[in-house]
Amino acid sequence: MVAASRASPAARPSPALQRARRAWALLQADSARSVALAGQALARAREQGDAPARAWAQLVLGYNRLYLSTPAEALATLAPLREDFERLGDRAGAILLEAGIARAWWRQGRLQEAHRHLQQLRDEGLRVLRHEQRGVLLNAIAGSHSALGDSEQAFAHMVSALHEARPSRAPGFDVVLHCNLSNELMQLGDAEAALAQVDEGLARCRRLANPRLLATLLINRVIALTELGRAREALADLQAVRAIPADEQGRGRNASCFEVLAVAALRAGEVALGRELVAAAAMSHHEPIADESHEMAQARALLAAAEGEVEGALAVMQPLRERLLDDGTDDGLSMRVRCSGLHLLSELCEHAGRPDEALAALRAWQRCQARRSSMASRARAQAALLQTELMRLHRRLEEQEARRRDTESARAALQAINEQLSRKVHEVEQLQVALREQATRDPLTGLFNRRHLADVLPPMLALARREALPMAVAIIDLDHFKAVNDRHGHDAGDHLLVAFGALLQDDSRASDVVCRYGGEEFCLLMPHTTAMAAAHHLGQLLQRWRTQVFEHQGRRLSGLSFTAGVCDSTRPGAGGEALLQAADQALLAAKREGRAQVRLVGP
Ligand code: GH3
Ligand code: MG
Ligand code: MG
Repeated sequence: MVAASRASPAARPSPALQRARRAWALLQADSARSVALAGQALARAREQGDAPARAWAQLVLGYNRLYLSTPAEALATLAPLREDFERLGDRAGAILLEAGIARAWWRQGRLQEAHRHLQQLRDEGLRVLRHEQRGVLLNAIAGSHSALGDSEQAFAHMVSALHEARPSRAPGFDVVLHCNLSNELMQLGDAEAALAQVDEGLARCRRLANPRLLATLLINRVIALTELGRAREALADLQAVRAIPADEQGRGRNASCFEVLAVAALRAGEVALGRELVAAAAMSHHEPIADESHEMAQARALLAAAEGEVEGALAVMQPLRERLLDDGTDDGLSMRVRCSGLHLLSELCEHAGRPDEALAALRAWQRCQARRSSMASRARAQAALLQTELMRLHRRLEEQEARRRDTESARAALQAINEQLSRKVHEVEQLQVALREQATRDPLTGLFNRRHLADVLPPMLALARREALPMAVAIIDLDHFKAVNDRHGHDAGDHLLVAFGALLQDDSRASDVVCRYGGEEFCLLMPHTTAMAAAHHLGQLLQRWRTQVFEHQGRRLSGLSFTAGVCDSTRPGAGGEALLQAADQALLAAKREGRAQVRLVGP
């Protein structure tokens, strides 16, 4: 079986496609099950040549790799799907695919490219995608804004995405957004609000089998608490994160963040733990993201300071110092990390007895904080604006949908009327056929009636004359028929009329016209037949009729006969009526001469 190649919204999805879509819905709720389902869908889709199911199953596997593997591995799965979705004409699939590809670029440090790509998808994506799929696009756009330090836009898109991601349809997408919002609020310097988002996310995350997301939420809480100067409270979360296995079923390679944990441990005064975590951070995989290397340096500097090496700590910070103090640099460093870096720098300078440098760092920190808080208020305004835009879009979509439903039901109604009409036309046609039959047939015997005879006799005669071939005309009258009625009843008479009609019909050729002329009289038109041949034929028929014996309601009817008069079209100048009269005259003469005979009209 080959599935239809073009995805149609009306067509029911194949079982393999349904499975791939379930795998998509489970992306955040249960990645292990999502991967397993996508694998099954893929196997079945390959077996059955089901192109839509194959593309969706691979899309889900690619997204899983985005979370659990390296960006290069994710790209290797996703990039080849471009052609597939193109061929299928599946725009929703194609847009989600491009969003995934952009996310992989972002993780490779190709921030601008990823951002431009997502901006290009935005308008069509908002038109085409619904629910959590739209949330995924909005979240990807938010992520790219965030990565470029545009927290206002990031925040606005995340808030909107959260409105789309209803947990009933695809659980877990909402938790991702609470998690990302907490991160963004941290950038905007609102650690309290960030904590609230983390707590909301954690409450919902308990229902999911997504340790990677749990780890990210816990790490965000560690960051928020550290930012609020409550690093000691973060120690439990820190240990909880470490207890989550870092393999593909757990944190994946996406969220180790040992440097963040190290900063928290050192801020909490846990030097040994901090040292251990700094070492772990140095060993772990690093993607080229500015925040990570800065936080790594901050963790090292904090460790050196905790070990009494204030100068050593400053030496670690030295390469970052210039960039931290320069407000204008756009190096992909987040505001949160820049602020915490400046704060640490000012602390270390103060410890080292360099008040001027400490003051300079503190001023830069103040400027950075001021920027964060003005951004925070603008971000809330942006979120409200975007929300209005999306609501307008929602309304337009709903209107379109309603219009589509209206035209569909109008079309269905029209179709029903059409069907009714053609049924009626058919009925009328059948009725007309029956009426025509009734008009030309005698109801008792089923033979043609006199009216039909009047219709066909002139053209048949004309044809016979044109072909110069004779046509015989015979009139037959049953003998003493009145006596049959009188003796055996009218029913018996009818019975006999039907029987004689059937005998005449059986005996005649297809080209003959057999009519009930009236009462117990019959008329035969026999093309290509002379009166002589017809008389001979009727003579034989008379012999057969005479030997017939009928049983009717226990009574025997026998000794039947008829009398016939026959002529043909070779009589010069005679029209149809004249031929009938001639045959009738012959018949009457034969009756007078004793009945039970066939009389030929002489030329
Ligand atoms: P003849 O040999 O001179 O033709 O005598 P006949 O009795 O056959 O002729 P007649 O014209 O005297 O009577 C014809 C009878 O046929 C009278 C009529 O009641 C009967 N008849 C005509 N149409 C029908 C019919 O449809 N059913 C029945 N049962 N009888 C019919
Ligand atoms: Mg008669
Ligand atoms: Mg008669």
